[in-house]
Amino acid sequence: MAKKLYIKTYGCQMNVYDSERIAEVLAPLGYEATDQSAGADMVILNTCHIRERAAEKVYSELGRLRKHKNAMAAEGRHMVLAVTGCVAQAEGEEVLSRAPYVDIVFGPQTYHRLPQMIAEASRASGQVLDTEFPEESKFDGLPQARTVNGAAAFLTIQEGCDKFCTYCVVPYTRGAEFSRAATDVLSEARNLVAAGAQEITFLGQNVNSYHGEAPGGSAHGSEWNLARLIREAAQIDGLARIRFTTSYPAEVDDDLIAAHGDVEKLMPYLHLPVQSGSDRVLKAMNRNHGVDEYRRLVDKLRKARPDIALSSDFIVGFPGENDADFRATLKLVEEVSFIQAYSFKYSPRPGTPAAMMDLQIDEAVKSERLAELQALLNTQTQNFNNQMIGKTVPVLLDRTGKMAGQLIGRSPYMQAVVVDAPQNLMNCIVDVTIDAASPNSLMGTLNLDSRKACA
Ligand code: SF4
Repeated sequence: MAKKLYIKTYGCQMNVYDSERIAEVLAPLGYEATDQSAGADMVILNTCHIRERAAEKVYSELGRLRKHKNAMAAEGRHMVLAVTGCVAQAEGEEVLSRAPYVDIVFGPQTYHRLPQMIAEASRASGQVLDTEFPEESKFDGLPQARTVNGAAAFLTIQEGCDKFCTYCVVPYTRGAEFSRAATDVLSEARNLVAAGAQEITFLGQNVNSYHGEAPGGSAHGSEWNLARLIREAAQIDGLARIRFTTSYPAEVDDDLIAAHGDVEKLMPYLHLPVQSGSDRVLKAMNRNHGVDEYRRLVDKLRKARPDIALSSDFIVGFPGENDADFRATLKLVEEVSFIQAYSFKYSPRPGTPAAMMDLQIDEAVKSERLAELQALLNTQTQNFNNQMIGKTVPVLLDRTGKMAGQLIGRSPYMQAVVVDAPQNLMNCIVDVTIDAASPNSLMGTLNLDSRKACA
């Protein structure tokens, strides 16, 4: 009898990738994905630890799942309840003590061992906790074959972070930087294309610090950087588009800028978090770059690829941030002009240096600054979308629209594009002429005989 597996994923794309791999690890044990937690034989919460609210959400969700678990127990059935991701890694013991009905807690580095953990949990009366950073790489223990939902796929190439920004928990929850061997990445990319992917996004907490062992390289100690990996991946037949995220400004090298200039399959969109426009605040954040360095980088990127769209991350209300610092952030945003950006109020995270800093900013001031910043960013997004009207762009159609006969796709600049199109064009790249623009999407007309490539 197929067993039902429900995975709820919080947070970043790397958690999405891990959830997909976890499902592939459990498929040989007879687990099939379901979108209902009620009645599922196994429920896994893949958690995020970036902001306070994210962690607390996990405990309220566990409380809700406890009811399902008890209901199944009343019918003589057992639901295996597990927690993974960064909350599990950061506070595994606490999860087990605050939610003693949880069976398994495992970290992002140990899910290749899940079959053993399930066996152990069913044998032992106790709970299973595995939040190690194992010697062996989890990637070596994962199934080779990949499954793809739609035409776009994520592929983790690098994990962990050595930067220790003073507000961030990632170095503690994901460990030191690790780059996968180029051969393994390229073989997984080919498997994804064979399974229908036309667009692959390379993932890493610090993806552009990638330095993977070159094919046959360990003997010669040679490594590939991200630019080299992209150039090689671009040779894969059937792979139409390449993206990568998340980048660290100080690690954007000339090779990567050149790749943006001349690798056609590399999409003209770069997520380049800057966090603040004040050198004083960047220093307090321990960000290894200044504002001028960021400006120069943007200029070099735009020289190499004039139509490149930039997105970013911003934190307002970092400890000690004064009004002049915040004005400097607004000034940088005005100068660079972003297609979109994620912006947040500073949220103290337990165990991070910034949480212990003096001059914590009042919540009301943080909210005021966030509102002003987001108003400016929204204007920039609308301006970017408006200038697309009348242009024809290749769009990868990968979702159904709200209206009948409507499909939604992704432009090279990651914009959502809504178009009237027949269902048989799903997972195809087609040309669309943009007729209208809203803050969150573009509307367009299909160029009928423009089907470029299909999964
Ligand atoms: S570079 Fe990114 S992941 Fe690394 S510590 Fe800084 S914010 Fe966190």
